[in-house]
Amino acid sequence: AEPKTNASIVPIATTIAAAEAVEKVEPEDYERLAKELENASPLEIIDRALEKFGNDIAIAFRVFSLDTGRLNPETYQFFDTVEKQYGIRIEYMFPDAVEVQALVRSKGLFSFYEDGHQECCRVRKVRPLRRALKGLRAWITGQRKDQSPGTRSEIPVVQVDPVFEGMDGGIGSLVKWNPVANVEGQDIWNFLRAMNVPVNSLHSQGYVSIGCEPCTRPVLPGQHEREGRWWWEDAKAKECGLHKGNIKEGNTAQLNGNG
Ligand code: SF4
Repeated sequence: AEPKTNASIVPIATTIAAAEAVEKVEPEDYERLAKELENASPLEIIDRALEKFGNDIAIAFRVFSLDTGRLNPETYQFFDTVEKQYGIRIEYMFPDAVEVQALVRSKGLFSFYEDGHQECCRVRKVRPLRRALKGLRAWITGQRKDQSPGTRSEIPVVQVDPVFEGMDGGIGSLVKWNPVANVEGQDIWNFLRAMNVPVNSLHSQGYVSIGCEPCTRPVLPGQHEREGRWWWEDAKAKECGLHKGNIKEGNTAQLNGNG
């Protein structure tokens, strides 16, 4: 079955290292801007991001992805296709080898099935992402409201990142753009086809939201895409910590300690 929604752009977080002269980040300014852009198209939103973060943005435009070491072979193949098609090198962020060794030696390779995915995600995803974002003032994600009714239904098109620090240090120093927040999965697919954008071949095997190999499975027609992720855990809190600011009180317990 053809996948309804696209997650192939999600593993690639496009990041912007902004121009030198950037005004101080004020959360209220971005709440106002998010309201103003609520009905804007993704391209208009990106235009505002580029405009706001200065003239140097074109030369500083970077693409990074987290390589947890546990991705499907198809995902690595997809990265390679993207690099070749666009003539870029993706900046892979790897987990700290000492931390991975300690985790695997003490708990084995599949501890997440027994005591939850948070510890492994923290080592393999959250800390490497934190390192990447420390070098930036703004980042762009592929999050969409329709990906997860439980955790993503209220994401704004732009916000001050509630979880991660930017290069100036401290929570509040990083701006997070979610330009496709209001776009539906089907419209993303139409755009990808029209623009001949490469996609992960797992999508044609029933995978919708794609993460690490042991924690991702295809979904059946009619099942929601997040049901293919961490299916052995509570359905409402399926965030790996990368976007844990989305998790509201009442279902935070599962992510406590996620660093
Ligand atoms: Fe580990 Fe699974 Fe999280 Fe990947 S998704 S980092 S394998 S727990």
